[in-house]
Amino acid sequence: MGRLGAHVSAAGGVANAFARGAAIGCDALQVFVKNASTWRGKALDDRAISAFREARAVTAGPGVPAPLPVVAHASYLINLASPESVTAERSRAALLDELQRCDALGIDGLVLHPGAHVGSGEDAGLDAIAAALDDVFARHEGGATILLLENTAGQGTVLGADLAHHGRLLRSVAAPERIGVCLDTCHAFAAGIDLRTHDGYEAFLATVDEEVGLGRVGAWHLNDSLHPLGSRKDRHASIGAGEIGLGAFARLIVDPRFEAVPMVLETPLGDDEQGHARDLVTLRSSSAAEGTSP
Ligand SMILES: [Zn+2]
Ligand SMILES: [Zn+2]
Repeated sequence: MGRLGAHVSAAGGVANAFARGAAIGCDALQVFVKNASTWRGKALDDRAISAFREARAVTAGPGVPAPLPVVAHASYLINLASPESVTAERSRAALLDELQRCDALGIDGLVLHPGAHVGSGEDAGLDAIAAALDDVFARHEGGATILLLENTAGQGTVLGADLAHHGRLLRSVAAPERIGVCLDTCHAFAAGIDLRTHDGYEAFLATVDEEVGLGRVGAWHLNDSLHPLGSRKDRHASIGAGEIGLGAFARLIVDPRFEAVPMVLETPLGDDEQGHARDLVTLRSSSAAEGTSP
């Protein structure tokens, strides 16, 4: 089974994420390494960094190989495809800051939405992203955190609904080894990929393999979709409660090709804030049921 977990709050210090994750049964975590809705975050001090590393070290236990896989999600404000120079430069600086934070913490991957061209067109947008990535990597030489470009629902002028965009970016940048992908089930489904069927799932993976290589999949986002296939709308639903349905997730989480890949929930928490805990139980019991059938 894949390494199942959730996006957990880093309130009060990013090291607190481990206890929150453990409380709901996470074998992998996603966090924000700064306030995701602001450009500038409070600097990470040495104490916060060592607290994080210590908390991560003790998460290893029976059946949980150390260290716990942890990815971060970059701020939603970042738009490397922006044709507007102030936003473009702010975005580069913000991404550089997030990569530096991730490296200080020893985080495996930083998930980033590729960007939105806001009217300049797909070609110009993708070229801008590639140039920005080259610039940011050049300003952060030797960084170990892999930048995971997410697939998107394709709403508005957002790039990256088509894995061909990821493939083109990988072929354009000077340091493709610093880039991987994060695959979001809700976004794929909203972009027209029918993950409900075996054939739809395998066709999607064939595209991923052709464009970027399955070995570059550094994380999955497990989200059901509130809206139907091809809606191009990015609204997550609880596992099994949306248009994708439980069967697709039961298939994915036992796929041996992704055994070591963190699979994190970004589903609604609900009024009692226990949405992720419930979804983890749903996922794990789905695969138990799957395991009993031939
Ligand atoms: Zn996602
Ligand atoms: Zn989403």
